[in-house]
Amino acid sequence: MDSEDDMHDANDAESLEDYYSGDTGVDYSDDDAADYEFIDNDSDDSDDIVTSRQQKNYVVLKEADICQRQEDDITTVSTVLSIPRVDACILLRQYHWSVSNVHEAWFADEDRVRKTVGLLERPVVQFSKAKELNCGICFESYPLDRISTAACGHPFCNACWRAYMSTSIDGGPGCLMLRCPDPSCGAAVGQGMINLLASDDNKVKYARYLQRSYIEDNRKVNYGIRS
Ligand SMILES: [Zn+2]
Ligand SMILES: [Zn+2]
Repeated sequence: MDSEDDMHDANDAESLEDYYSGDTGVDYSDDDAADYEFIDNDSDDSDDIVTSRQQKNYVVLKEADICQRQEDDITTVSTVLSIPRVDACILLRQYHWSVSNVHEAWFADEDRVRKTVGLLERPVVQFSKAKELNCGICFESYPLDRISTAACGHPFCNACWRAYMSTSIDGGPGCLMLRCPDPSCGAAVGQGMINLLASDDNKVKYARYLQRSYIEDNRKVNYGIRS
């Protein structure tokens, strides 16, 4: 469908600049903040959105613009803290996508932040030299190429991982806070593992949740506009 192009015509760089011009007098509180509408590429309710925009102060950002900003923030945190991008993404999600809050908390007490968020520096389970490992969920024994672990090292078979991820992703955006299935373990499971082990559908869903969380968390701060 090509209505996407039509909708975006009036919302190019020029309008973005306006919204980011940094008018500090603007009240971005919940009540006054402009509604924000995220356009799905596959959404069919474009007519409704156009109509609503005439009634309310909608800000429409292109999906690509949002992705770019999110990627840029992840790159910044990853570079400044010298951590992998997937870890930077987990941190940002936990700190509501505020780069400055991540930096502040990290440099104040890195250990505490790592613990809270579940970013382990080293595995809690010794690496086994065995050729096969038991999955901690189904208790079957599998060759190592069918076993995966988060940073903690707790072994689960790929089929159990996939089912675990599927249940979590079906349950909604809480999947963005996914942890190791071992109940005693808080190791974070980020997009890197999702992309390795989840079904294609679930990878897409997860990525969408991630993007929406970015939009939601930034909405009050960055996306408000004057009426
Ligand atoms: Zn299993
Ligand atoms: Zn674990």
